[in-house]
Amino acid sequence: MSRYVCHQTVNRVALRVVLYSLAVFFSITGKAAPSQLSDYFREVWTTRDGLPHNTINAISQSEDGYLWIGTWEGAARFNGRSFTVFGRGEPSGMPDVGIRTIHKNRQQNLIFAGARGGLSERRPDDWQSWQPYRVLINGVADDKQGNLWLATEGQGVYRQAARGERTQLTIQQGLPSNVVSSVLSTDDGSIWLGTGRGLVRLNSEDESFALEQVNGLPEVPVLALTAYNNGLLIGTERGLYQYQAGQVSVFSPQLMNLPVSVLLAFDNQIWIGTTDRGLLRYSDAGLESLNMAAGLPNNRILSLFHDRENSIWVGTNGGLFRLRDAPFVTLTTEQGLAGNYIRSVLSHSDGSVWVGSSQGVSRITKQGVEAIDLSAYSDAQSVLSMVEGPDGSVWIGTYSDGVLQWQNDAIVQQYNRRTGLLANEVRAIAVAPQGGLWVGTGHGLNYVDSNGVRSFTTEDGLPTPFVMGLYLHNDGRLFIGTGGGVVIRSPNGDITPVDISNLDDAEYAFGFAPDPAAGLLWMSTDRGLVAYELATGRLTMLGRNAGLPFDKVFQAVIDQDRHLWLSSNRGILRFRREQIEDYLAGQREQVDYELFGESDGMQSAQANGGSMQAATLAQDGTVWFATSKGASRVSPTQLKRFSANTPPVVIEGFKVNGLALPLHTEKDIAPGADRIEIQFAGLGFVMPERIQYRTRLQGFDNSWVDRGSNTIAEYTNLAPGDYQFMVSASYPGGAWGEQNASFRFTIAPYFWQQTGFWLVALLTVIAMVIVAHRWRMKSLRQRAEELSNQVAEQTYTLKQQADNLRKVDEERSALLLEIKRQAAEFEQQARSDKLTGLANRRAFDESLHRECARSKRRNLPLCLALLDIDHFKQINDTFNHSIGDRVLKLVADAISQHCREEDLVARWGGEEFAILLPNCDNQAAQDICERIRQAVSETDCSAIAPDISLTISIGVTAYHSDDTFDKLISRADKALYAAKEAGRNRLTQI
Ligand code: GH3
Ligand code: MG
Ligand code: MG
Repeated sequence: MSRYVCHQTVNRVALRVVLYSLAVFFSITGKAAPSQLSDYFREVWTTRDGLPHNTINAISQSEDGYLWIGTWEGAARFNGRSFTVFGRGEPSGMPDVGIRTIHKNRQQNLIFAGARGGLSERRPDDWQSWQPYRVLINGVADDKQGNLWLATEGQGVYRQAARGERTQLTIQQGLPSNVVSSVLSTDDGSIWLGTGRGLVRLNSEDESFALEQVNGLPEVPVLALTAYNNGLLIGTERGLYQYQAGQVSVFSPQLMNLPVSVLLAFDNQIWIGTTDRGLLRYSDAGLESLNMAAGLPNNRILSLFHDRENSIWVGTNGGLFRLRDAPFVTLTTEQGLAGNYIRSVLSHSDGSVWVGSSQGVSRITKQGVEAIDLSAYSDAQSVLSMVEGPDGSVWIGTYSDGVLQWQNDAIVQQYNRRTGLLANEVRAIAVAPQGGLWVGTGHGLNYVDSNGVRSFTTEDGLPTPFVMGLYLHNDGRLFIGTGGGVVIRSPNGDITPVDISNLDDAEYAFGFAPDPAAGLLWMSTDRGLVAYELATGRLTMLGRNAGLPFDKVFQAVIDQDRHLWLSSNRGILRFRREQIEDYLAGQREQVDYELFGESDGMQSAQANGGSMQAATLAQDGTVWFATSKGASRVSPTQLKRFSANTPPVVIEGFKVNGLALPLHTEKDIAPGADRIEIQFAGLGFVMPERIQYRTRLQGFDNSWVDRGSNTIAEYTNLAPGDYQFMVSASYPGGAWGEQNASFRFTIAPYFWQQTGFWLVALLTVIAMVIVAHRWRMKSLRQRAEELSNQVAEQTYTLKQQADNLRKVDEERSALLLEIKRQAAEFEQQARSDKLTGLANRRAFDESLHRECARSKRRNLPLCLALLDIDHFKQINDTFNHSIGDRVLKLVADAISQHCREEDLVARWGGEEFAILLPNCDNQAAQDICERIRQAVSETDCSAIAPDISLTISIGVTAYHSDDTFDKLISRADKALYAAKEAGRNRLTQI
């Protein structure tokens, strides 16, 4: 068994070894180390993205957080998502759109200068501009006295004092050239002027403007100046120089003749822009370079800027370029990997990370990237899977040559079809503790140990022979992921399926990830991620329904904070542990995710899956993913650092009913503001699309409202009043910025929305009502008076006439009345009983006829009751007839009182009474009669005579439509008789 390490590759990466180990070290300790220039994530913006021009003359960042880009077609303000262009005229007051330079002064305001000598300062609330200089301004500096120093293209240097007086220095005052390209003010009070023929210096406090030529430089244009190490860096058309303690020296022989156009120095890094050779960086890591071949839009560099988030902005004359740290770093063949199509990554217990590609295996250690040569055993060296054995050896599954065991820098074993495997395509491997090896192939599962090779196929219970994942649990259960789902082989050899098909119809099981702290095994499928409870077998699907953006997921990884990472064809997802737990406990319906892709540093968002492992957690806490272009790693710790940054937030727009209003004025809004729209922006440039916002409109919202990544808040139909809008921003998972942007406005009420108006209106209405009421009363009174007067007059006349007539008539009327009265009396007498005042038999008969007919016609119930005083004869006999009469009256009164109003009571004859009960059924009639019986029996007769016992018997019957009167009456009579028979003082119904 021979060992072969690709020396060529090792040499190629020799330079990177140190850098890489530094990067690894710092990613663990969390200290910011410069990323390797090639590890930076690169982006380009051009006129296609909204820049006004592709020549980027100047870049700066204002205190509020905006990035400002100076171009020949204006200054562009960048909020991370879009550019707002400021041209000539208002608000900047520039005489021309061309911006050559942007300088941040001691008050931290930006000063813009450029074509036609325009000079303008952007202050917190407004712009201040000065009379133009009529010459192109190349550079601006300000000194401690508040003077501005302007380097011009042909008119030497101007000093503009704080009050505006201008002083010009040209060759007449000793300037080597009237072309001045650069100017720098240093803390020692020096003003350095980079002219067309070398560098000069003057003392800003010396009003004689004595110029001192700096010796030791070639007589060529000095294009760039920057403070460095208590001295200066001087970029000339022919080389980079250093000024230190009065001496000029060549900065580095490597940079001897480099045409330097712009310089940026910070944190031991020197960034050098050249006129035609792209970008260079000189740092502890040595000299690195970046040019058009590596994605720079143009090799002519005009400006450089280091922003607050540690990104490097590069202005070229082909667009704006940015280098930044991204959450993901992708290793490809450029970093020395054997291939770019990565199928498996392995985190080895020795701290190394193994990367299996379609062109061989690479091992990444602190010493660098090294190739593991398989060519003696595998022609194609196409690797599908890798697993570490308990002894630290690595089992490597290949596409066409079976499985190889690597140990101590050599291949020590190989199993393939010749040695009895079902196929040479090995996607999954599991090492049994007792020394056996499970090998998942494209044609079934093999178990290899000292007894030989055993095979398991569909006949043994595999759903399909295509094995993609294996997981051997510590209780001996082997989980087998296939193209037809998951089966479990128990230690006794039984193979039972795990039914994932009813979980959203999942079929393919791509990989397993044990989550011991949660007692779970995560299974990635073509319909989402399945959580398998190892103790109970309970399954929970985390798929589309849980909010996953797509179906197919390849490999889950649990990171050191127990958050869950998931690879897919469309990027890498991250879920928070707390949410996962809540979801599994049924306490939330959906889980939030973060999706990472190409803008986060991946070379390709398309991860690979279906072989072991498609993603892994390295010993240093980084998570690695096999992708279709390189091995991408992310450091969750570093990601936290990204999130810890809270971007400042600004309010960018204010619209009322669709109309934009200026932000500084007119915050008093006229009545009728139905729709108010406020636009804001978080000024973070690292992950601008991920910035989260929350807003609060005081006067309307009681608490903060989450806006997600929306940058517009809209309010409709706000009531008139005072409002304060507040917004704050954060990166996902980071804290909310303490500095909120806020904005006050007032919506004026319509006159009818004012309290005063309603008060006045109410009082007016009340007053009007009172006046109207009074007027009406008065006129009514007048009218009444008039009428009564009229009436009085007419009455008087009429009365006289009437008196006469009445006298005649009176006698006749009296006579007539008497006749009528008598007739009525007769009539009454004819129909009522004299003694009791009740209706008599005649009147009753008439009513009986009428009511029977009515009952028949309308089909209404009708009852007839006959009542007879018990042993009345005895009363007469015991006392006398007149006492008997008084008793009769008492009974009559009791009956009348206790029957209903509509009932007709009559004296039937002697001591008998009859009651006709219209609209009354048997039961009701019974109730009424019973009430009467009760009342009679309780009648107090003591006022008439002592010891009278008074009771009645009652017979009740209901009228049937076919009854004749005789029949009805005789039935009632019969009922009465029955009551008497039964012992009196009772009621009987027939
Ligand atoms: P019973 O319980 O069977 O009805 O016994 P009773 O004594 O009430 O019945 P009976 O028919 O034997 O007697 C009715 C008596 O009512 C006979 C008569 O003297 C008396 N009577 C009938 N009309 C009047 C009347 O207008 N005034 C007085 N004081 N008594 C009357
Ligand atoms: Mg009687
Ligand atoms: Mg009787």
